[in-house]
Formats: sequence, C-alpha cells, structure tokens
Amino acid sequence: KFNTNVGQHILKNPGVAEAIVAKAFLKPSDTVLEVGPGTGNLTVRILEKAKKVIAVELDPRMAAEVTKRVQGKPEQKRLEVLLGDVIKMETLPQFDVCISNTPYQISSPLVFKLLSLPNPPRVSVLMFQREFALRLTARPGDSLYCRLSVNAQFWAKITHIMKVGKNNFKPPPQVESSVVRIEPKMGSERPGVSWDEWDGMLRICFVRRGRTMRASWLGSREVLGLCERNYRVWCAMNNIPLDDTPLDLTNGADEMEIDTPAADDDEEFQGFSDHEADDDTPAFFKELNAKQTNFPKTVGKKKKTRVAELIKEKIRKVLEDVTDLADKRAGKCDENDFLRLLSAFNEEGLHFA
Ligand code: SAM
Repeated sequence: KFNTNVGQHILKNPGVAEAIVAKAFLKPSDTVLEVGPGTGNLTVRILEKAKKVIAVELDPRMAAEVTKRVQGKPEQKRLEVLLGDVIKMETLPQFDVCISNTPYQISSPLVFKLLSLPNPPRVSVLMFQREFALRLTARPGDSLYCRLSVNAQFWAKITHIMKVGKNNFKPPPQVESSVVRIEPKMGSERPGVSWDEWDGMLRICFVRRGRTMRASWLGSREVLGLCERNYRVWCAMNNIPLDDTPLDLTNGADEMEIDTPAADDDEEFQGFSDHEADDDTPAFFKELNAKQTNFPKTVGKKKKTRVAELIKEKIRKVLEDVTDLADKRAGKCDENDFLRLLSAFNEEGLHFA
C-alpha cells in the first residue's frame, strides 16, 4: 500500500507525532506548511494547535486520505491540500512554521529551499535520516562536515531534538531517524551576504572536502573557467577593460601548468568519500560545462589569454597573501574562514553568483 520509493514511511507512534508538533511551539495564529502529510497523522495534531495547515503531497492517493480524514469536521476549512512536488513549486503560500516527516529523497533540497526563502519560516521541525541530521549539525573537522553543514549553520540555529527508532514507522525504513529544529537567524543576526554568492563559493570549496583550498581553486579547469566567466561579467558590468591578447606560447611552454595537482595530498583527511550523498556539487559542474557560454574557453589547450593568467594570480593572492587559507582543507574551515575568503574574493572582483 505504501510507496517507499517516494519515502512513504508512516509514523505509527502517536507519542512521537505529539512530540514533533509540541517541539514546534505553535501559536494559535500560525499557518503551518506540512510537507508530505501522508495519511495525516501529524496533520490532525497540527490542526489542533494552529490556525491553518497547508499540506503539500506528491501522491494523489495520500492527498485523498488526508482530505478524507477531516471531511465534515470543523477543521476541514483550515486544511488546504496542494498536490505536487514541494521542491518543484516555484512559489509557496506564506507560512510561519514548517513541520515534516520528510521523505528522505528531498532532505537536502528541502533544507536549502526553506533557508533560502525570502521570508523563511520562524521554525521548522523536520524528521530526517539520522546521518542527514548529523550532517546538519556537524562541526569543522567532523567526518560528516560538508557544504550542507556550513550552509545550515550559517543561516540558522540547528538543534537535534530526538532520536526516533525505525520501528516507529510503517513500513520501517532501513536506517534510524532524528528530529531536528531549524530556526533561521533573523533581523540583525541574519548574515549580510548574498545566499547565491555564499553557496556558489562553498560549492567550489566542497567539490572535495579533503582537498586543500589551493588544489580546489587552482587545480581545476572547471573552477578556473567559472571564475574567469564570472570575472568577465563583473568587468563588463563595471566598465573595466580586459587585456585579452593571447599569451606568447612559442616556447612550447605548457600553458596548463598547475602548481598543485587536483588529486593531491588527501592522506591527512581519512574517512571522506568522494561521493556526498546529500551534495549535488559534481552535478552542478556537469551542468555548468554543458551550458554554452559566450566566452572563449581560455583555459583550454590553445586559447590561453592574459585574463586567465590574471585570474590565477588573483586567486593565488586571495589564498596565500590575504587569507592564508591555501593549505587548509574545506573540511576543516569554519564559518569565519569562509567569510574571510568570500570577502577577499569579492575585493578582487571575483563573484560566484
Ligand atoms: N506525514 C506522514 C506521517 O508522518 O505519517 C507521512 C510521512 S512520509 C515519510 C512522506 C510523505 O511525503 C509521503 O506521503 C510521500 O508521498 C510524500 N512525498 C514524497 N515526496 C514528496 C515531494 N517531493 N513533495 C511532497 N510530498 C512528497
């Protein structure tokens, strides 16, 4: 009856359902977004405490179930069911709080979506697979520390609320779960940097968490190409002329000389696999490469120009002279390191959004 391909694991323990709703500290005036109401075990409890529930459900059978559950009751008018994939919805109605026994396939995009909303919810209480919850709260140097950890903790306060064993679900999932609370930083606490810039830079830093910053930034054609394209756009917008004359390569000099090889000294950083289940960074670069650009590929074999040289020099300066982060690995950098890095890149006219 349940489709586990879309994460249908119904919460059968009423105590856990009660606790999840209690931990959201709902006000009677709140509008709550529930992602994946399923048969409505959380929905009916949220309706007891809040003014309104907007429930987004992918599976029409489940949408029908939850609708039926309140049919003919006074709370029927306070439940709005939206059929569809919450990640693909371009606009969501305004809501104060998000509660979800999250289908695990959308854990990462859901967190990113909630945190990047122009008006993020006051609080989100979300059930995740245990490992995903641990990634959200991981600190620099921890084996699970990744781009998700940095982003989540940069924009919000994350609290691990409770562990939930697999037997509380029907059918039981393969792994244990955890409930976390996400409270976005508001007002003066909210960082004054652009979401897209911050995340754009982190994507590059975290292509491999165990790699040094020098290798991540200077040892990859994709990254150098991306920086160059962004720099050209920035110069065009700011009326800064560029010296595009090709470099003289008549000596047969190797124009792709890179001082640090891409697959460098990872030995110090054990336990990291190249594949990050919750991170779409490699896909991001694939997409990027597939896109047509208007600019010549200056870091390719033949067309290397002075601009490409300039970019390398700017990056070297940022990493070695300004921030002193060249030999540090992303997996060990904290929020302050990344903030210093972004501001130094911006200072050099290098942007990531
Ligand atoms: N809330 C119910 C509970 O706790 O018993 C069901 C939770 S179940 C883990 C996840 C629900 O999310 C399923 O009903 C599934 O159909 C739905 N779902 C899966 N992917 C979704 C998506 N992208 N957007 C909205 N709902 C989704």
